[in-house]
Amino acid sequence: MVDKHMDAYKHERETRRRAYMSAPSLKDQFPAAEQLVLELTFVDPNAASQHSPQTHTFGPTARAYFEVACPFSSCTGGGFDLSAVVADLLSHGERAASGKLVCRGWQDRGLAGEHRCLLEMSYRVSASFETLVEPSSRSKPNRLGKW
Ligand SMILES: [Zn+2]
Repeated sequence: MVDKHMDAYKHERETRRRAYMSAPSLKDQFPAAEQLVLELTFVDPNAASQHSPQTHTFGPTARAYFEVACPFSSCTGGGFDLSAVVADLLSHGERAASGKLVCRGWQDRGLAGEHRCLLEMSYRVSASFETLVEPSSRSKPNRLGKW
């Protein structure tokens, strides 16, 4: 049973690695975005475990890959996908969004299909954009102060 779990775990890691490697850079996908910060906190609804908060910072050359692995080492098929949240935020040029996601993976090694993980992740996504797109850069220099 342990071997089976390890296989599933390895397979998951490999799938994630490939998805990460094939993701475009943040700049390629969202040219106006300068930096993106994900702040994550986790709450176990059963209060049986504690997980450290995480902060992920993305610069222009970072890969635009926003799937977060479930911090439970015993969770199979879980994780949190922030791709849609990030895409929505950046495509609208907004600066911040927050919300909550629930892990849909399975707990208990070898007993997949019996206990959902249901770990809660609260997220806050903040973005900063290139100063070039600020409205103030559109004013004409030779007219400065002559309104
Ligand atoms: Zn999980």
